Amino acid sequence: MDTEIIAVGSELLLGQITNTNARFISNQLSELGINVYYHTVVGDNVGRLEEAIKIAESRADLIIFSGGLGPTKDDLTKETIAKHLQTELVYDDFAMKSIEEFFTKQKRKMTENNRKQALVLKGCEVLVNKNGMAPGMIFEHDHRIYILLPGPPKEIEPMFQFEAKPKLAGRISEDTKIISHVLRFYGIGEAELEVRVQDLLDNQSNPTIAPLASDGEVTLRITAKAENDEKAQKLINQSKEEILHRVGEYLYGVDDDSLSSKAAEMLITNNLTIAAAESLTAGLFQSELASNPGISQSLLGGMVTYTEQVKKEQLGMPAEILDQFGVVSAECAGKMASLVKEKFNTNIGVGLTGAAGPEGHGDQPAGTVWIGIAIDDDQPYTYRLQLSGMRNTNRLRAVKFAFHYLIQLLSKKGYSKL
Ligand code: ATP
Repeated sequence: MDTEIIAVGSELLLGQITNTNARFISNQLSELGINVYYHTVVGDNVGRLEEAIKIAESRADLIIFSGGLGPTKDDLTKETIAKHLQTELVYDDFAMKSIEEFFTKQKRKMTENNRKQALVLKGCEVLVNKNGMAPGMIFEHDHRIYILLPGPPKEIEPMFQFEAKPKLAGRISEDTKIISHVLRFYGIGEAELEVRVQDLLDNQSNPTIAPLASDGEVTLRITAKAENDEKAQKLINQSKEEILHRVGEYLYGVDDDSLSSKAAEMLITNNLTIAAAESLTAGLFQSELASNPGISQSLLGGMVTYTEQVKKEQLGMPAEILDQFGVVSAECAGKMASLVKEKFNTNIGVGLTGAAGPEGHGDQPAGTVWIGIAIDDDQPYTYRLQLSGMRNTNRLRAVKFAFHYLIQLLSKKGYSKL
């Protein structure tokens, strides 16, 4: 099933927003083994949209539209498709009722143009919008499938994932199951990981293995097709075992895990408490950790100790350490970790210090970062990074590496197996 995604919206062409909807849908379709060959972006203009539809029809069996289903005049996706396919728009009772209920609940007066959102292509399968008003649609015409979805990501993403995707999966083939599993790695570059699994990538057919690198992370998505879930899972497991045999030491999680969620999970399940003293990251480590539900039993608190004076006065950093080794040093990071651990009476203390850039710090070049982790009664563990990004990229990378080293250390200490 060759697919084209058409995102409708002049704001996309003006550069005001990024076409994240196409990215999301492509990603979801790859899990079904459906090929996406084109992403098209077109403004809110009937003539140009119709032209885009004609081009898409010449090269795709499945055309997915995002945006332009709202109540205003420039929302013209379904009207243009109806005109092009010479079909009618009719009111969908369920959608109309939910729009009316929405306005009653909000105690707002419903304007006439809001009724327009309940119009759907006659004969389509309606996709319920649980997060907004405009329903989505699946419409078949002349052996082609047209899927119309709303623009806001909080509406399109659940609608596609939970409504449209299962229906598409059923249409591909009733007796083909497709399962996908993502392996997440950190601390190894994309190129090195590829080299280590190159022969598996070269010889793949079923399952397929797709590498992807972003923000210093590398993922491998394994997708298997089989006549039932069990057989597809077996294919995935065989492939996973072979991959982990080669690069398993860098695996930190799977599927929707993130470095911080994995670290949080390990802290919570092992009843470990943690505090952090942050310099170059100024609270980012704690903020990222706090994004995980249930973390309050582990993350007790922490400090932003940006200047040398604050490090000395608030954290208790001995002046000799700063004088002798400097603020960007293993000694300083390790001491920050053990001091904050002591101050907050936690099992673990983390210290982050470094030169985020663009300037270096003394004789330390920009991008030099030291991470300290104090755990149990061990001497603090320290790790040096030499990052090469822009200031804020370096700060984010430093946080990711701190989680990476924390996960590795906890695993090594037998706190929890991955
Ligand atoms: P609404 O009822 O909100 O008007 P709609 O289905 O008509 O929804 P649009 O008006 O095209 O959708 O877009 C609404 C908002 O959704 C945009 O302002 C933008 O924030 C977001 N959006 C639209 N298209 C995309 C896209 N391709 N990628 C990411 N966000 C998008």
